[in-house]
Amino acid sequence: IFDEFTIKSLIRPVADFPKPGVVFRDITPLFQSPRALRMMIDSFIQRYVESDFTHIGALDARGFLLGPILAYELNKPLILFRKKGKLPSDLLEETYQTEYGDAVIEVQADSLCEGDSILLVDDLIATGGTLLAAVNLVKRMGASVYETAAIVDLPELGGSHRLQDIGIPTFTLTAFS
Ligand code: IMP
Repeated sequence: IFDEFTIKSLIRPVADFPKPGVVFRDITPLFQSPRALRMMIDSFIQRYVESDFTHIGALDARGFLLGPILAYELNKPLILFRKKGKLPSDLLEETYQTEYGDAVIEVQADSLCEGDSILLVDDLIATGGTLLAAVNLVKRMGASVYETAAIVDLPELGGSHRLQDIGIPTFTLTAFS
């Protein structure tokens, strides 16, 4: 049974990381708890087991902790959205702003086709910049985003609203305001 209190209690607030004034939500304790990991994965599987998206997209780096487990359980192909310089072959790239500065993500240009529909997975939604950049990459390949999923939403940073405003649904297991 999903217990949001347990999930919340295993997300550690770290003051002034990675820079002064930022409260970083550290999700590593969740992965040190087999019960919490099972609870999180079971919630995502329950939500998506009957869904008809064609692919799962995992965002570098902590999206990689969830994406492969969901791809395995749901039997879907997994696409990696990576920070610049990590992927070989023909790439598409998007530049975006994070809470901490400018960043670039890349995807292999042949990873999706017109008509494909992808579930994008990351650990946390803050300003939404990372997921919006991934959404743009998906659209540039002619595919669509089914939904974006994460463990944590920080609604006050506006990301989930920004995604909803352009018609992209978000699903998160918990939120901190
Ligand atoms: P956004 O692009 O501003 O939505 O930031 C989300 C991205 O930055 C995700 O890939 C997160 O892994 C990372 N991130 C931003 N803030 C935090 C945090 O407080 N804890 C963990 N990851 C964070």
